[in-house]
Amino acid sequence: MTSRALVVVAALAVATAAGVAQAPQGQQPGPQSEGAIRQRPGANRAPEFPPPSIIDYKPRTTLVVAQHPVPRAKFPAIDIHSHQPTPMTAAQLDTVAASMDSVNLQVLVNVSGASGDALTRSIAALRATRHRDRMVQFTNIDFRNVGPGWAARAVAQLEADAKAGAVGIGEINKGFGLTMRKADGTRLKIDDPDLDPVWQAAARLNLPVLIHTADPQEFFEPIDFNNERWLELSMFSDRRFSGPQYPKFEELMTERDRLFKRHPKTTFIAAHLGWHANNLARLGKMFDEMPNVYGEVGAVIYDIGRQPRTGHDFFVKYQDRLLFGKDSYQPDEFPYYWRVFETGDEYFDYFPAPRNYHAFWKLYGVALPDPVLRKLYYQNAMKLVPGIPKAGFPR
Ligand SMILES: [Zn+2]
Repeated sequence: MTSRALVVVAALAVATAAGVAQAPQGQQPGPQSEGAIRQRPGANRAPEFPPPSIIDYKPRTTLVVAQHPVPRAKFPAIDIHSHQPTPMTAAQLDTVAASMDSVNLQVLVNVSGASGDALTRSIAALRATRHRDRMVQFTNIDFRNVGPGWAARAVAQLEADAKAGAVGIGEINKGFGLTMRKADGTRLKIDDPDLDPVWQAAARLNLPVLIHTADPQEFFEPIDFNNERWLELSMFSDRRFSGPQYPKFEELMTERDRLFKRHPKTTFIAAHLGWHANNLARLGKMFDEMPNVYGEVGAVIYDIGRQPRTGHDFFVKYQDRLLFGKDSYQPDEFPYYWRVFETGDEYFDYFPAPRNYHAFWKLYGVALPDPVLRKLYYQNAMKLVPGIPKAGFPR
């Protein structure tokens, strides 16, 4: 070895011993994350072009995988959560029935809340048409002015409506607990004891209760760029509940669960999976602790479709507790539900624009086995609501 080579070797040894990283030629060492040997490529870069807004950024996917769209449900379905006019004209029913046929919906449960005279007229109008087997009617409870004498009147109305042909109660909407006031001006809590006679009557009359409590938990949070519903909240002022005038999400959930537990003989169907589709372990715990509680899947398909493995296992485990429901009646949106439930498709779009503001992510199918699909689509609903016509379903 020459004396010059010896000097180079010695210098390298000193540098290595001191722990000094050798920067590649022509590049300055940048800040390093803890434990990293060298800077990550592109770490300090920023876009050279103005970034698009989340409205404008619509990257087309280059993923090529099998596609199995499902225009019609594999088995005839009951929509336990449908909103239709009350009453409906024969012409309106013709239109709705034709659209039901196109997606294999057999029965709609109209939960638009007709009661008294409107309910009677609604049921009479339905029975006068050839579509009498395609729709049933729930009644509703008028929660205004709860106070002395209210419960007796409400129970009498329920009895009359059941006699007129109502086969359930609901949809009790999100205003119950969130904004509804008692006669004395205080907020009507979901588990208010003044309401107990009504829940007891529901059990006695065998009327299941479809109840929508609160809204997605992000609607109760500040609308910042960490809120996964920012886009929707920016579009709909009536979905913002983070203000001090509203109860907290967890406060409403606590009241709801106390109600469910205090009336174990009353059947409750938690609309929108109780807004726990983003936390199925929590919903499973509710089902375990409250045998009188069921869940309906309306408007939360974006949550089921982003957890295909957890979702599949949950629907299999709780197959006796889940009912199909859609809420908003948009015939072209039902196939997205069928595809999530029936296929193992990957990375497909949620609803078409402009109805895709709920979720900017892609969906995956949970590929449910046929016996589970049957329960979800119609068998569980028939068990809970014996008044649903049997015509048109597999025997
Ligand atoms: Zn609804």
